[in-house]
Amino acid sequence: MDLGIKGKWALVGGASKGLGFGCAQALAQEGVNVVMVARGAEVLNKAVEDLRVETGGKVQLIAVAEDITTEAGREAIWNVAGGPGKDYDIVVTNAGGPPPGDFRDWDRDAWIKAVDANMLTPIELIKATADGMAERGFGRIVNITSSAVKAPIDILGLSNGARSGLTGFVAGTSRSIQLAGRNVTINNLLPGAFDTDRLRSNQKTIATKAGKSVEEVSEARRKTIPAQRFGTAQEFGETCAFLCSQQASYITGQNVLIDGGAYPGAF
Ligand code: NAP
Repeated sequence: MDLGIKGKWALVGGASKGLGFGCAQALAQEGVNVVMVARGAEVLNKAVEDLRVETGGKVQLIAVAEDITTEAGREAIWNVAGGPGKDYDIVVTNAGGPPPGDFRDWDRDAWIKAVDANMLTPIELIKATADGMAERGFGRIVNITSSAVKAPIDILGLSNGARSGLTGFVAGTSRSIQLAGRNVTINNLLPGAFDTDRLRSNQKTIATKAGKSVEEVSEARRKTIPAQRFGTAQEFGETCAFLCSQQASYITGQNVLIDGGAYPGAF
């Protein structure tokens, strides 16, 4: 299926590895020019180079090694040479997740950091780009959140809390006639367990706490998933690319779970 987005410009946060990279990759394969953001320049530049080879130089790929959760980082994104300024057609918000832990140990600073990264940063990115999308009559915003929004996990309290705030904001804003009525969609994509560095580091925390090996913890988690496997960044990215397609213009304000059937509810 041709997704009809060739030649468009996408901004993808947290794009040097994991789910963000999967999204950048799937969009680039559809002919979308992508500005890829992550803090670590070395890993990011390698990811961009790999993708350049994979796509045979058919799309423009720009690396911005900045912290997307800061105002200075976002200014650098809007001003990057060769980029579209704030005139993005597609924005995939993602900045890594807050650390797991015990709520008794989280002080105000830990909460502010989590809310900044997983609620306020996506809102700032939407604020900067959505009205321009509406003026041009096309826009797709996908926020990478978490299945924990629907089924919270105890050690991920910072994530559960901050992302719930974003979810509420998106539920209202995506339905504004100025956006939905101008072909601008905003959806949240909710990953369950995906085989990325983030998952491995969470499993390490659980294993240490439980006095088990990482393999034991990983195997036990895998068995709880009806699909009996962890997801891949590639399949996550392809779902994201579909939500960014012309065909998905009637899907907005949704929380799309991608979790191998792990969430047990009917709705
Ligand atoms: P990952 O493999 O750790 O990758 C995170 C990416 O984000 C990296 O490219 C990282 O690069 C970048 N990043 C982190 N903080 C950033 C910042 N402040 N500014 C710019 N880039 C930043 O994580 P992932 O598994 O892909 O997870 C992506 C999101 O999905 C996270 O929010 C995570 O909590 C959520 N999630 C993941 C799973 C899962 O199973 N994997 C499940 C539920 C939810 P730098 O460190 O170099 O900046």
